[in-house]
Amino acid sequence: MLTQTQFLDSLACPRCKTKLKLTRKHCAVCDFGFSCKQGVWKLLYNPHPVSETSRRLYEKLHRRKFAVPTDGVYEVLACFARGNTTIDVASGDGELESRVSETVGVEFAYNALRKSKNRGAKFLVQADAAHLPFVDDAFDLAICAGSLEHFADPELAISEMARVSKIQILTVHKLPSFPAIQIVYNLLTHIISLQQQPIEQPLTWKRLENLLIQAQLKIIFKGVWTLPVNYGRVVKFLPELKNLPSCHFVITKK
Ligand SMILES: [Zn+2]
Repeated sequence: MLTQTQFLDSLACPRCKTKLKLTRKHCAVCDFGFSCKQGVWKLLYNPHPVSETSRRLYEKLHRRKFAVPTDGVYEVLACFARGNTTIDVASGDGELESRVSETVGVEFAYNALRKSKNRGAKFLVQADAAHLPFVDDAFDLAICAGSLEHFADPELAISEMARVSKIQILTVHKLPSFPAIQIVYNLLTHIISLQQQPIEQPLTWKRLENLLIQAQLKIIFKGVWTLPVNYGRVVKFLPELKNLPSCHFVITKK
């Protein structure tokens, strides 16, 4: 279980990864400025313009209730998080943190973090998944649930998860692997204007496997998870589409 001291000790500059001296308000090496506002550490460094555009849209999305799966996925992930030092990358409005309050919620949208705080989360950091503000090997576990497909730079996000944790658990919406699937997918999402989230790029197993290998992670378990495809009824005329093998479920270690 993570203590307050361990949490504060884990914080690093998101830009140059130097361990932060919290009495100062700037990184001693690169001068990156940071602060703590209402219990949220503001360590957001996202030079990727697509990521910044995406963040602004999520700030708007999180002003209202955000649709999350209600199939039990968070209860299962909470069992992994409980008793370990855990970060939850792209923690949204705190589904996991409301169940395991000592999980470190990392999220780029401040409006989501404020909601997490109200739901009992103890450790919250505003940061970009591609530039995690933690020292190397700070955590036992990094969980990323249903978010990798929404990142501007999934390669960098995985390598950052690998850097800061011993074990990684990912659920990632999958793209079936058949020829031209990406073109078909883009066409379909264009036709039915599937714009619930700004970046929506499900991954084939081959693509995900390559990302994990590039980050020098060992795949301990790979399986499928039946996350509802249409949760929150984003496409109103379709049912939630539960119980389809819609999601990769992977456990990796360094
Ligand atoms: Zn720095």
